[in-house]
Amino acid sequence: MTGKGTAKHIPRKRFGQNFLVDDGIIDSIINAIAPQRGDNLVEIGPGLGALTAPLLTRLDRLQVIEIDRDLIAVLRERYATASVTIHEGDVLQFDFAALGSKLRVAGNLPYNISTPLLFRFAEFAGHIRDVHVMLQREVVERMVAAPGDSEFSRLSVMLQYRFDMEMLFDVPPGSFDPAPKVESAVVRLTPFSTLPHPAHDEAVFSSVVARAFSQRRKTLRNTLKGVITDADFTRLDINPGARAQELSVADFVRIADAVAAPV
Ligand code: SAM
Repeated sequence: MTGKGTAKHIPRKRFGQNFLVDDGIIDSIINAIAPQRGDNLVEIGPGLGALTAPLLTRLDRLQVIEIDRDLIAVLRERYATASVTIHEGDVLQFDFAALGSKLRVAGNLPYNISTPLLFRFAEFAGHIRDVHVMLQREVVERMVAAPGDSEFSRLSVMLQYRFDMEMLFDVPPGSFDPAPKVESAVVRLTPFSTLPHPAHDEAVFSSVVARAFSQRRKTLRNTLKGVITDADFTRLDINPGARAQELSVADFVRIADAVAAPV
């Protein structure tokens, strides 16, 4: 037996299948989500239902997105009820807007797609109320890192632009079957209702951040050559000799705004 279900499912590495088997951790995740009956909640990667079953006891309805056909067959059999909607397919292609507004997102995520998935959450932030997910601890550390921290990265800036984030608790490898090689952590993302530092042009902001972090050891003068001049850096009071990881989200927005609307 694998995971919380009774199906003899052989975990698939390519789908990042590490099933939760620790009831204490499952309880902590459910309590962190604090589901309320009328919530519009979608679970990513229900797998064998470790989180699905306790979520369902607290919700009127639940939507799930799963890619593994074998698991979908198990889920369809187990949850042949009007209160569960099963979406079959790749969450990276999923249109979260189709699920309506104030969407609550939860899941023990497949770690191999965590970065593109987090960017996808950012894309749909306007439809989302909050996100509670388990990820590789190292990724969560990057998400919540502060400027100057060695983990501060493009992911930190792009997510901190849109979300208030809180690392909730750590989860050891032994809480899963099979046990992953890495430590895990649960994180909450709440989209800002009003962005603290809105960029005039978010595409420009995104490309400035990507460029600045493309060569982490190089100075901004080098990575942003041809994008912004030394005179602009002086006007913005940003040191061109600094590296990307020393700048705040607000600094990146100021650079992007200068690029989008040069004086
Ligand atoms: N929720 C279960 C648990 O906690 O035991 C399973 C979590 S397991 C880490 C990740 C789940 O995501 C698996 O069920 C896997 O099949 C599913 N999955 C992997 N890649 C996916 C994708 N691209 N789209 C949707 N589901 C995916």
